[in-house]
Amino acid sequence: RAKEEGKNNYQFYSPDLKVRSLERLMLENNLRKALERHEFFLHYQAKRNLKTGKIAGVEALVRWQHPELGTISPAHFIPLAEETGLIVHLGRWVLRAACTQGVIWQQQGLPPICIAVNLSARQFFDDNLINDIANALRESGLAPELLEMEITEGMIMQDAERAIRILTGIKALGVRLAIDDFGVGYSSLAHIKRFPIDTLKVDSSFIRDIPANREDRAITEAIIAMGKTLSLTVIAEGVETQEQENFLRDSACDQTQGYYFSKPVSPEEFTRFMLAHMVEAMVCSPPEKQFT
Ligand code: C2E
Ligand code: MG
Ligand code: MG
Ligand code: MG
Repeated sequence: RAKEEGKNNYQFYSPDLKVRSLERLMLENNLRKALERHEFFLHYQAKRNLKTGKIAGVEALVRWQHPELGTISPAHFIPLAEETGLIVHLGRWVLRAACTQGVIWQQQGLPPICIAVNLSARQFFDDNLINDIANALRESGLAPELLEMEITEGMIMQDAERAIRILTGIKALGVRLAIDDFGVGYSSLAHIKRFPIDTLKVDSSFIRDIPANREDRAITEAIIAMGKTLSLTVIAEGVETQEQENFLRDSACDQTQGYYFSKPVSPEEFTRFMLAHMVEAMVCSPPEKQFT
C-alpha cells in the first residue's frame, strides 16, 4: 500500500492525479471520435511581406471544437494525438483541408497564396508522408509551390540522415520547406545548410522582448543575417507590436507573422482580410509606384 511505503509514494494515489488520468483517458477517447464527428477545423494566420506590406502567405492551424469543452487549443491535444499515433490521421485531414481551402480561395478570385501546414515528429517520420502530401495536392488540385511544410529543428535532429532523405522527397514534389520555432533547438545554422529548406521561422521567444532586450535583438539580427547568407526566407513569429515590426523591417527580416498583422481566423474572415489588403494596396500605394 502506498501509505506504508512512505510519504513520497503517496502521491501516486492522490485523487488529483486519478482525476487527471481519467480526464486524459476521456480526452483520448474523444480525440479518436472527433475525426469521424468532424470536430476539427482550421484557422488561418497571415504572414506579411515587410518590403511590400502585403500578405506573403498563410499558415493553417488546427482547432478542436469539443461538444462540451468548447474550442481546445492544439497545444493541448497535439501532444496527446502524437502519443497515441492519431496525429497521422489528423495530419492527413489537416493537409487535405488546407490544400482544398487554398483552391477555394483561388476559385473565389483571390490571388494564389502559399499555405503552410505544420508537421509533428510522428507525421514527419511516417512512411506514408510523401504519398499523403502527393495525394492531397492531386486531389485538391493545389499547385505544389503553393504548399509549405513546417517542421522543427528537434524533429530533424532526431535522425539527421533520415530527415534529409524525407526532406529531399518532399522537395522533389515541388513543395516548400520551413523550419518552425527556429533558435530554440540545438541545431546550428552550419547544420541547417545540409537540409534542403526554404524558410526559417524565428521563434517567438526571441521576438517577445524586442526591442527592449539587447540579447534578443542581437540573436534575431544574427539569425536574419545568417539566413540571408544561406539564401533562406526569414520570418519572425509572434510579432505583436508596431515596435517589433519596425525593428524587424530595419533588420531586413523578410516577413512577419503575429497578432499585430492578424490573429488566426476562419477561412471566411481570411477571405475578407485578403480583399481588404488588396484594396488597401491599390488605394495606398505611393504615386511613383503606381505605374511601374
Ligand atoms: P506554431 O506552428 O509555432 O504556431 C504559432 C502559434 O503561435 C499558434 O498557436 C498561433 O496562434 C500563435 N501565435 C501567432 N501569433 C501570435 C502572437 O502574436 N502572439 C501570441 N501570443 N501567439 C501567437 P496555436 O494555433 O495554438 O498552435 C500551437 C502549436 O500547435 C503550433 O505552433 C504548432 O506547433 C501546433 N499545431 C497547430 N496546428 C497544427 C497542425 O495542424 N498539425 C500539427 N502537427 N501541429 C499543429
Ligand atoms: Mg508553425
Ligand atoms: Mg512556431
Ligand atoms: Mg510554436
